[in-house]
Amino acid sequence: MQDLPITQQPIAIASPLPRKSRQARVVWRNNVVTVGGDAPVRVQSMTNTDTVDAVETAIQVRQLAQAGSEMVRITVNTPEAAAAVPYIREQLDRMGEYVPLVGDFHYNGHRLLTEYPACAEALSKYRINPGNVGKGDKKDKQFGQMIEAAARYDKAVRIGVNWGSLDQELMARLMDENSRRTQPWDTRQVMFEALISSAVDSARLAESMGLNGDNIILSCKVSGVQDLISVYRALAQRCDYALHLGLTEAGMGTKGTVASAAALSVLLQEGIGDTIRVSLTPQPGEARTQEVVVASEILQALGLRIFVPSVTACPGCGRTTSTTFQELAKQIDDYLRGQMPLWRMKYPGVEAMKVAVMGCIVNGPGESKHANIGISLPGTGEAPAAPVYIDGEKALTLRGERIAEEFQALVENYVARTYGATAAAPA
Ligand code: SF4
Repeated sequence: MQDLPITQQPIAIASPLPRKSRQARVVWRNNVVTVGGDAPVRVQSMTNTDTVDAVETAIQVRQLAQAGSEMVRITVNTPEAAAAVPYIREQLDRMGEYVPLVGDFHYNGHRLLTEYPACAEALSKYRINPGNVGKGDKKDKQFGQMIEAAARYDKAVRIGVNWGSLDQELMARLMDENSRRTQPWDTRQVMFEALISSAVDSARLAESMGLNGDNIILSCKVSGVQDLISVYRALAQRCDYALHLGLTEAGMGTKGTVASAAALSVLLQEGIGDTIRVSLTPQPGEARTQEVVVASEILQALGLRIFVPSVTACPGCGRTTSTTFQELAKQIDDYLRGQMPLWRMKYPGVEAMKVAVMGCIVNGPGESKHANIGISLPGTGEAPAAPVYIDGEKALTLRGERIAEEFQALVENYVARTYGATAAAPA
């Protein structure tokens, strides 16, 4: 038999490429969220409440922040909404929630930021869509008014281009130029060029108007996975502004989650993207915070951030017909996630904990030993006993009807013992 060749080279370990963008600062009080450069890739989200309802909006902003959103965008579309912004900020501050607020402006942002200075001040970042700031002669003037407000109040700006609201005058000019090429580009390529030109040219214009270039973040959102990858690869080559990444109108449920994960993962692995949002359409009854959960999970799966302890659970198979391990895995996952707002402060480092909930003896003990704490539930025909492994060693065996409650209590004790001690240790 012929020997298989054995390589002398160690297998390269995959990791995301470093990002090369400039660093912006999005600030509220002493909460400084750095975006770009060597800062962690940030998670952001957007409310879907009526901004005029300051109480409901403040509650949802807090929920999103508690779920892990590091900046929260709110719609500022009318004078009433602009007037409500300082009250929303005030309520959040009273709750001790200093998450920066981002104002989303279209069509009338120049007027709202000028006529409602308290709104301009209470926001930490303005999102400006160059396709929606005005037409013809008014465009640069109105854009300038928004940039002037950002410079005056020292706010970050996201110049956010979206293919659904692309600057039509620019698109028409580029189509015209394209028609004169000896080998015209594909219409999609012209559209990509229009998206990128609109973003980069607007950023350069903003800098020429006096805005600090470090405080500019760019986005060019489209709704197709391959389109988003094409656009952001080109955008990252054409500028060094921090980039906000997101698949616009990703859709609902599994489709939106998978499409966002597919697009964002490719780009983040290439070192492209400094802050992300997952634009999920909530399913009926689904919490708005789901978009934050998905964004965090994408970053955690890529090894870019750690937000919550991870639960390793097997998919189940013919070796276990019981649903106990599925229910326990879900219960533990919900429990860990629910505890994180408190644990984050009380138990530093707990987010790196690994918990295993496995369905039978085949992989159960092995996976459980690799976790900080793990349980191997009995498969079909196995003795009704569930060994628990702590830090790689078998610690005890659970039996009976209360396995779920007892395992949760063991996890809680483990967290207090392991991570509480670190918090209490002298500096
Ligand atoms: S651990 Fe057991 S139950 Fe789970 S997938 Fe593997 S063989 Fe099936």
